[in-house]
Amino acid sequence: MPVDNLFPSIRIVLVETTHPGNIGAAARAMKNMGLTRLVLVNPGDFPHDKAIWRAASAADVVHEATVVETLDEAIAGCHLVLGTSARDRRIPWPMLEPRACGEKVIAEHSKGAEVAIIFGRESRGLKNEELQKCHYHVNIPTGEAYSSLNLAMAVQVLCYEILQASLAGKLADTQWDMEYASTDAVENLFDHLEQTLVQVEFHDPDNPRQLLTRLRRMFNRIRMDQMEVNIMRGFLTAINKLGKPQRD
Ligand code: SAH
Repeated sequence: MPVDNLFPSIRIVLVETTHPGNIGAAARAMKNMGLTRLVLVNPGDFPHDKAIWRAASAADVVHEATVVETLDEAIAGCHLVLGTSARDRRIPWPMLEPRACGEKVIAEHSKGAEVAIIFGRESRGLKNEELQKCHYHVNIPTGEAYSSLNLAMAVQVLCYEILQASLAGKLADTQWDMEYASTDAVENLFDHLEQTLVQVEFHDPDNPRQLLTRLRRMFNRIRMDQMEVNIMRGFLTAINKLGKPQRD
């Protein structure tokens, strides 16, 4: 599904990037995932053709990037600021892994927050004082032998998680064709199910064990919609009409 500038209030901030190719590759990683707002803090070699080449069809993101002198300017007006780092710091900050980062960014974004995600220099990452401007540190888990991703690859991972978190929310909210069953409807179904299990002598109320608890857990895991509850109620009523099991 193509996505276009889904997240106008999420900015990706690159601090003192040395290689212009990485700026282009980061722009591409962003646009692929529906992000377009790029802020460059004091880039080393910019503008540069290499940035445009590496951006491919995301050259517009590079052309429209905002260039500023300081990190403070880049994050001005933000309500949530996240800093990415491959290294543990001496004074640990609240940490997020990429999935939780995507979810947090989308949750805040949907409430109208301005969000910045900051990426450091290729050679030295972010300075401690830069990370200390952030509410959270985000670390991408890696193999032990090499924890430092290429800058644009790190941008890709986090932008991917932001888009996935946003799609997950949308699918959960809009894709279902029926209303979810109310708690009353589900409770009535449980009562009906219990009576029917007693009727067919599958369930002995004098020796209940965990049967009803397990069935309740199973149905809650499914999160039934109203139509499914109706079908189950109809099915149980049909069984009720059959009466007690015949014994020879
Ligand atoms: N040598 C630097 C790493 C620079 S990599 C250092 O030791 O910090 C360039 C940038 O990519 C980092 O500043 C960070 O923003 C991002 N990055 C790379 N690997 C990462 C990881 N494992 N987790 C989070 N961000 C990472």
